[in-house]
Amino acid sequence: MEVRLASERGFCFGVEDAIELAEAAVEQHGAGRVVALGPVIHNKEVVGKLERAGLNQSGDLDTIDADKVVLIRSHGASPETMERIEQRGLDVIDATCVLVKRAQNVVKQLHDEGYHVVMIGDRNHPEVKGVIGYAPNVTVIDSGSDLAVALPYRERLGIVAQTTHSPEHVASVIADILQRPYREVKIVNTLCLEVTRRQEAAIELCKDVDVMFVLGGLHSANTKEMARLCGEAGTRTFHVETWEQFDPTMVEDVSVAGVTAGASTPESVITDFVTNLREL
Ligand code: SF4
Repeated sequence: MEVRLASERGFCFGVEDAIELAEAAVEQHGAGRVVALGPVIHNKEVVGKLERAGLNQSGDLDTIDADKVVLIRSHGASPETMERIEQRGLDVIDATCVLVKRAQNVVKQLHDEGYHVVMIGDRNHPEVKGVIGYAPNVTVIDSGSDLAVALPYRERLGIVAQTTHSPEHVASVIADILQRPYREVKIVNTLCLEVTRRQEAAIELCKDVDVMFVLGGLHSANTKEMARLCGEAGTRTFHVETWEQFDPTMVEDVSVAGVTAGASTPESVITDFVTNLREL
């Protein structure tokens, strides 16, 4: 069986920066002193490695002792969380990706300019939860079907999107919004080009393979989106975290297999998967 790799795959600069900051923080403050507010990135292997190096993790700010250093993960945090950290006098290291930070600033600016802010994204995703804190009453819409219930009439709408969504998904929701009689709609593109390039490379590879493997955390939004796009392109697609989830039935009657990986998947996971697949 032939195995082909997507031309763009794996770690993005935002994830690399967050991991480097986390490693440097542990090095500087010592094992057990730095506490990440949630997983630094959505990848079990990387999070496990950081934990073994001495990085602690907590989802609840109130349980973090006063002598600890708080690490804000790549997905960012809401202004309310940042204020609570300050009130508690905790030291903070901010590993928010610059593109997520930009989305936070855009939301604040749109509100200041008088727009009702709409964010196209998954309301349960930590990035979205953080970004919508930068303006009051942001409406979160994940698909066109949310529109009727979620979007109140406002004369001026300012639209942003979760960084990891695909351009085609965002465009389809915006097309639905434009069917409605808003007087002014301002769209700011907050999509991440790193993610878009990986999505395009995956779809391109789908044309030449019988099956696609999309490697990455099962909670990773960009990996899930890439798997969805590959499936939508008509290629049998499996979203797996590591080689451990591989099953030989996945490649029955397959001559060419394609492999890609989300922006939070380390190269070691990709290499291990590809090596094992080629040995079959
Ligand atoms: S996927 Fe894009 S937005 Fe997310 S961390 Fe990476 S560079 Fe930043």
